[in-house]
Amino acid sequence: MRVFALLLMFAASLAAQPEATLVLLNGRVWTVNPAQPEAEAVACVGRRIVAVGFTDQIRPWVGAATRVIDLHGRRVLPGFNDAHVHFLDGGEQLAGVQLRDAASIDEFRDRIARFSATLPAGAWVLGGEWDHERWTPATLPTRQVIDPVTHGHPVWVDRLDGHMALANTEALKLAGVTRDTPDPPGGEIVRDANGEPTGVLKDAARALVERVVPAPTAAEMAQSVRAAMHYAAENGVTSVQDMSAWPPVLAVYQRLLKTGELTVRISGHQPISTWENLAQVGILAAFGGETLHIGGLKGFADGSLGSTTALFFHPYLDAPNTSGLAAEDMIPESKMHDRIVAADKAGLQVAVHAIGDKANKLILDMYEDAERVNGPRDRRFRIEHAQHLRQQDIPRFAALHVIASMQPYHCIDDGRWAEKRVGPEVIRGTYAFRSLLDTGATLAFGSDWPVAPMVPLMGIYAAATRRTLDGKHPGGWVPGQKITVAEAIRAYTMGSAYASFDDHIKGSIAPGKLADMVVLSDDILHIDPVKIADTRVMMTIFDGTVVYDRDEKHPDAHSQH
Ligand SMILES: [Zn+2]
Repeated sequence: MRVFALLLMFAASLAAQPEATLVLLNGRVWTVNPAQPEAEAVACVGRRIVAVGFTDQIRPWVGAATRVIDLHGRRVLPGFNDAHVHFLDGGEQLAGVQLRDAASIDEFRDRIARFSATLPAGAWVLGGEWDHERWTPATLPTRQVIDPVTHGHPVWVDRLDGHMALANTEALKLAGVTRDTPDPPGGEIVRDANGEPTGVLKDAARALVERVVPAPTAAEMAQSVRAAMHYAAENGVTSVQDMSAWPPVLAVYQRLLKTGELTVRISGHQPISTWENLAQVGILAAFGGETLHIGGLKGFADGSLGSTTALFFHPYLDAPNTSGLAAEDMIPESKMHDRIVAADKAGLQVAVHAIGDKANKLILDMYEDAERVNGPRDRRFRIEHAQHLRQQDIPRFAALHVIASMQPYHCIDDGRWAEKRVGPEVIRGTYAFRSLLDTGATLAFGSDWPVAPMVPLMGIYAAATRRTLDGKHPGGWVPGQKITVAEAIRAYTMGSAYASFDDHIKGSIAPGKLADMVVLSDDILHIDPVKIADTRVMMTIFDGTVVYDRDEKHPDAHSQH
């Protein structure tokens, strides 16, 4: 045995094995590669993984210039791939002023003051997500509170529900809003005892200011994308599939690619209405490179459960006058059908948002028809959300090779109130992870950030526990639809990679694949899934380089090692 090992080493040295640039040793590597599920160590040369195995097998790859990381038994997974985000929107929120946890009106004002001081002259203070319910007393803020600290910057900051926002006097002036401006239909200009606007504008009145907020420049958008990439790295996300990467966002990504700044791989989806533009220049599904490529064509079949616009077969229990609304892309339905069939024929990929059971059924029918008309092909049709499915529609995902692109965090969020809205029968096929897997479907997991946090560990926790955010379902909401942690990891790595035609280069830790990996604080495959909510990303490796190291950000924790 020992002689054999020596011979192997001798043979390896004869083959002039290159030095690894990065080596991970002494870990617990969950590869998502069925041929070699567990390993201890990984060697990378440049952007790629070259070897996976026991620590003793990988050590010979270490050379003088190799960066060696001793994992001390920590769990390693393939980098997470978030299959559904709105990356620029999320980045814009992060790049704006942060008011969500401002605990008093004084803190609210001080944060706006500090943020304004960082901006060039004339730039708007945007973002916010303030919540006056946290303050004592819980009264709405006014422009008079912030005017003295904003030094000529117009301010327009949202409440966290998006239904109202506060403008300062400068912003109201630019918008032409005065005491004489009437409330628009569906909106309110909040006024003081003297009839003067206080700066708070509700619902439709928000448009009065919104129309004068300048569109972001390319430089501002790049700044938002940098903020989004930083957040992605902190959460172990090495690939995102951006559902709204249309112009000018795709151009911003290309500039960041050119300057070498992308630390996340992006698959950029385009509106389905533009399929002909792509087809005309001969673009096929997933055209582009390993770091940035064109994603699917995104269409909408319906709205959302929260706003009672998701399209169902039966009326809402708590709003019996409606069973939801078909989206504009579906009016008439033949418009969506014809676009799907034609785009598919052109070799493009289609991804349609469908939440209600009727919306899902209609899109499955259209996908079925496209396959019948255009013949068999590796087309990877996707349904985004696939939230509520009739029992008879669940097996159709596997039968038609349609990917269910789902966001498990929504399950523990909506699970607080969904049943009273749609009833017990619909709930059986709601976020039906277990049934979809059991019938052979591919799940691709994501977050829908910024609608939900871009935190894959929370998504895995949600899929494995189905414990709603209100703590009311400790054993899981519709517990029969829970899946295992390993299955949830697979959906967040290989499943997502498959959904963007990237499974040959991503999704598992195997020789030849891109060196995108994540190191966790706890072994989520062996702890109680409930504890995954407390697990942290310790390190994120992208393209063979460490792009996030929690210990470096927390030097105190490091010194305790
Ligand atoms: Zn979305």
